[in-house]
Amino acid sequence: MSSSSSTTTKQEPQTREFQAQVQQILDLVVHSLYSQKEVFLRELISNSVDATEKRRLLALENPELADEKSPEIWLSADSKAKTLTISDRGIGMSREEVERNIGTIAHSGTREFAERLGQIKENPELIGQFGVGFYASFMVAEKVELHTRKAGEEQGTLWQSQGDGSYTISAKPKEDVGTAITLHLKVFDPKEEGEATVEDFTDSWALKQVVKKYSDFVEIPIKMMVEKNEPVLDSEGKAIEGKFETKEVEETLNAQRALWRQPASKISEEEYTEFYKSVCRDWSDPLDVIHYKAEGAQDFLALLFVPSQVPFDYHQREAQWGPSLYIKKVFITENITELLPAYLRFIKGVVDSDDIPLNVSREMLQKDHRLQALSKALVFKVLKHFETMLNKKRSAYEKLWNLWGITLKEGLAMDLTHKERLEKIVLFRTSLDDRLTTLDEYIGRMPAEQKAIYYLTGDSLEHLKVSPYMETFKQRKCEVLMMVDPVDEWVMQSLRRYQDFDMVNASQENLDLPGEESEAQKKEREEQLTEKNKEYEALCTTIQAVLAEHIKEVKLSTRLVDSPVCLVNSQNDPSMRMERIMGAMGQKMPKTKRVLEIHPGHPVIQRMKLLGEATQKQWADILYHQALLNEGSSIDNPVLFTQKINDLMTTTAAS
Ligand code: ADP
Repeated sequence: MSSSSSTTTKQEPQTREFQAQVQQILDLVVHSLYSQKEVFLRELISNSVDATEKRRLLALENPELADEKSPEIWLSADSKAKTLTISDRGIGMSREEVERNIGTIAHSGTREFAERLGQIKENPELIGQFGVGFYASFMVAEKVELHTRKAGEEQGTLWQSQGDGSYTISAKPKEDVGTAITLHLKVFDPKEEGEATVEDFTDSWALKQVVKKYSDFVEIPIKMMVEKNEPVLDSEGKAIEGKFETKEVEETLNAQRALWRQPASKISEEEYTEFYKSVCRDWSDPLDVIHYKAEGAQDFLALLFVPSQVPFDYHQREAQWGPSLYIKKVFITENITELLPAYLRFIKGVVDSDDIPLNVSREMLQKDHRLQALSKALVFKVLKHFETMLNKKRSAYEKLWNLWGITLKEGLAMDLTHKERLEKIVLFRTSLDDRLTTLDEYIGRMPAEQKAIYYLTGDSLEHLKVSPYMETFKQRKCEVLMMVDPVDEWVMQSLRRYQDFDMVNASQENLDLPGEESEAQKKEREEQLTEKNKEYEALCTTIQAVLAEHIKEVKLSTRLVDSPVCLVNSQNDPSMRMERIMGAMGQKMPKTKRVLEIHPGHPVIQRMKLLGEATQKQWADILYHQALLNEGSSIDNPVLFTQKINDLMTTTAAS
């Protein structure tokens, strides 16, 4: 912030409107999340933990900003006034920061939020993904006050709002650095809300339950004064039997145990889930847990999770990823991308190392060979875990694949070291049925005479299933792997062979397909083809002349069954889809000319042979465009194409 922003007018109380989307979010939070009111506390405690960690990290470089006392978070409740205050001695916020962080939605969340409003209404648990945790306070409070003072600054700031479209902000001195958030709790009507959802958030027992549930592992003690019955002592300091008095005593509500350091056998599924939700900031349960303790060359612990929902910002280039790194239980940094390769970027969690020295800077860390060795061990472990999952928990693995397979398979193109491992765990849709299959399973089903693994890429399974390229495979009951993700074009560039078999694109020319014909039958068929070639030579020449600009050759097809024409690639040419995807990314590739196959058994081609040359030329052009549409390409000039069809229809009508 520039110093000019702290003019006198800025120090006066001001009333401001919320950003429109903030109000929308507030309304939604308040009106849709009845059943999970208590999560407001988790969100506020997480914010306090973050702020405390930030101050600690800052103080490493600026010792004067350090907290003299050991860090703690306090809850204080007043049951008469119906208020609950959550206070920390974290980094705090300046007035500008309060305006920026609390009055608006800071990050890219806003647009996505608006776009996914409908979805969020149906699944309110998604809301936590948008970085709007603070607003959860309005689920339980009719008024929220945030009083804060930033480390290194003298002035305090008070922010107040009733969640009704505006907030006020003013200067107010504050003794300690840090933030105190006071909630003026709503009084809920049990009849309207349902008994179970009405909790008293000034009650220390209720608060303790919520803290235990969500924040038990938090390393910072969360404290509260609670009333306890203590024995009354006599003048010698001995308890007088049967006499008790109520005293206020300080109690730490959370056990502060770093879950990843506990043996897996002592951790329940619920504990894993709650840990995941609070640490990885997800509101839905994880799909799978990888808890691992490495000893030997590298001593580290990893508690990793596979999320069960794709985060809203997952496909954004700048989206952050990577587990958090701890060194001997001390939090170092979140989103450390050096630990896992990009194709495992969907994995969240915590890695805690015993070997890396605490005082390495982030830049040094990236180059640290210990971190690199740790990463290697970690990737190995994760892929091994996926393999076990595939073999032992197939349906869970398929769920994982449906969510994250598109990312995981990038590894085939990126990570040569682990390619063999990855090849074993990639799944494909097969043309046989809608099941997912591994390459090994595909090979297991192959008839002995099949010489290659066939695949076809395209934009949707529906298109692929009825594609002309599939016709001959269907007829021969030969299985084809169907691939519909853009990344598949790259994947298949690097996955050229698996075990003893080439991976062959079903749209390639000169396929040598398995069939049930004898040598004699094969010979006969080839003779027939030579015959047919002679018969159709003239037609092929005419078509070639018309389309010379677009295709390199016209050939009689042996693959087509129901379609008159199709376009095929030579073996080493880039696929048309690759060309299209590169084009869409702004990288034009030189156009590769392909082979147009015509099906001599098809009535259209048979009729075409009998027509005059002028009409043959007209048809050739239309058939070429048909072939483009069938393979999923767009045509350069659709208007011209429809005109040509119309011309054709008029001539037909006239004859
Ligand atoms: P998120 O925490 O996901 O970013 P929130 O709406 O909960 O979203 O908080 C918005 C921002 O307000 C935080 O990123 C942080 O910068 C600031 N903030 C919230 N609570 C505190 C706090 N107790 N101390 C300091 N800063 C805070």
